[in-house]
Amino acid sequence: MPKHCSAKVEGEECQLAPSYVISVKSHEGEYMLAVVCNDHKSALEARLVAMQEANRIPQGSIHFQPVKMVVTDCVTGIDADYIELNDKT
Ligand SMILES: [Zn+2]
Repeated sequence: MPKHCSAKVEGEECQLAPSYVISVKSHEGEYMLAVVCNDHKSALEARLVAMQEANRIPQGSIHFQPVKMVVTDCVTGIDADYIELNDKT
């Protein structure tokens, strides 16, 4: 589990502790996308929707789960890459 939020704003990586794990639920199962702090929750959600439209991440409904509810051993598919919120592509 990453130690801080996955958001990156204008090249600046967010150093806040994550509050939510973001996953996408598709017919293939649940796939972890990122972790996010409270401040970037809505911005990152909008970004992920745009990434789905661009077929850069799996399709399906985006789901937020409080970090403390997640059993770390069950987290799969997550990678530590930052997601640039202001990326237009
Ligand atoms: Zn953040």
